[in-house]
Amino acid sequence: MSDITFKSVSEIRQGLASKEFSSVEITKAYLDRIEQHKDLNAFVSLSAEDALADAKLADRKIASGEAYSLTGVPIALKDLMLSKNQKASACSNIISNFISPYDSTVVVKLKEAGAVIVGKTNMDEFAMGSSNENSAFGPVKNPWNKECVPGGSSGGSAAAVSARLVPLALGTDTGGSIRQPASLSGIVGIRPTYGRVSRFGIIAYASSLDQVGAFGNSVKDCAEVLEVISGHCLKDSTSMQLEVPEFSSSLDSAIQGLRVGVPKEYFIEGIDPEVKVSIQAALTKLESLGAELVEISLPHTEYALATYYIIAPAEASSNLARYDGVRYGKRAEKASDLLELYMQTRSEGFGDEVKRRIMIGTYVLSTGYYDAYYLHAQKVRRLVKRDFDLAFDEKCDLIACPTAPTTAFKIGEKVNDPLQMYLNDIFTIPVNLAGLPGMSVPCGLDAKGLPIGLQLIGKPFDESTLFRVGHHFEQATEWHKQLPPLS
Ligand code: GLN
Repeated sequence: MSDITFKSVSEIRQGLASKEFSSVEITKAYLDRIEQHKDLNAFVSLSAEDALADAKLADRKIASGEAYSLTGVPIALKDLMLSKNQKASACSNIISNFISPYDSTVVVKLKEAGAVIVGKTNMDEFAMGSSNENSAFGPVKNPWNKECVPGGSSGGSAAAVSARLVPLALGTDTGGSIRQPASLSGIVGIRPTYGRVSRFGIIAYASSLDQVGAFGNSVKDCAEVLEVISGHCLKDSTSMQLEVPEFSSSLDSAIQGLRVGVPKEYFIEGIDPEVKVSIQAALTKLESLGAELVEISLPHTEYALATYYIIAPAEASSNLARYDGVRYGKRAEKASDLLELYMQTRSEGFGDEVKRRIMIGTYVLSTGYYDAYYLHAQKVRRLVKRDFDLAFDEKCDLIACPTAPTTAFKIGEKVNDPLQMYLNDIFTIPVNLAGLPGMSVPCGLDAKGLPIGLQLIGKPFDESTLFRVGHHFEQATEWHKQLPPLS
């Protein structure tokens, strides 16, 4: 029974259909494994009772022939996704006991599809971070080396999938928070195009950049989840009225002749030489599969990080204004007037990184600085987007490059140097500024045995090409089959 937790989504589906095991059995097996690897700190809350009840219901549906692709399949949610009657804290002390009164749209869709939600995963507080060390519930350990971070901010979801504590998990990606932890944890992570998935019921960080996506142990698994959670939603006006392709059914179509853009600005100094070698080998592999490599230039890449660290904090400072001690969660007890209530609640409730971003964001939006920083950053954002538009118009069908400049770093190594931490997102952030889809696929291990990820970037709403190329790459390599050294 132990290898039951090492199956792909389609193997789970087959096993359920052929009654090799039931959804209740597989859900229990995963819950046991979560318990066994508790030291990873990947989960912050479990909903075992509800999960087993949902699994029972799924078993009945499967028996009566009413199953969908994810019916009976366990999945975990990042702790900023609302699921009715469950905690959703965004791993912040300011709302650590908040119980959601309703379901987010992604949860509605998962439930309709019959997926079994097992619990909520650890993350950087309000999704601000690249290492999961900014969580109010402590850091997550990387299953490949427990002294290392799993990446962030969706570190718990990435570690959980990597350690096979769940076959699937959802995350959000505002500046790389799905792709970077997928890369550092040796799994696949897809951040779809902005507007592909509804953000309704997702605790907001930076609303013009946030997007929900998925983690899995293969491209196909991720494609199947994205099919379920995508689509227009009346409660999120930024979700697009576009038909959702059946991503998982076109994975095998040929990639012959596809033009893969390789941005020269993404092979800069500071990139770990071992990462560079693996990415180059991955590019050669794509070429041998029939793709054509073309050099492209994304000249505004060097301004992307600075631009992001103006726009994201600006939006965060506005989104986080609602945590004032009056409406949600924590309320300071000894305040003598309203202003003191706000100040004490927020001083006690938010962690250091969140406070830093609120201060930066408030500063760049303030009278006198708005034009110099915020407005300017919006203009540069447009230039970053134009670089991608030109590349896709004139030169390539998709882009391939590293996901992160390094492999997983040690817990504690970068906590005192925010700039070093921010630099880990240098290759993921431009995608968010441009609103594009991006995916990370395992493409190597360094000398220390830590995973390396290849990033594929697509045209708006062309996740299909990413899945297709990623799937072909997986068929030709063994990297996604490597397992972290856990029992
Ligand atoms: N690491 C980036 C940040 O700290 C991105 C986070 C994210 O995508 N949520 O903002």
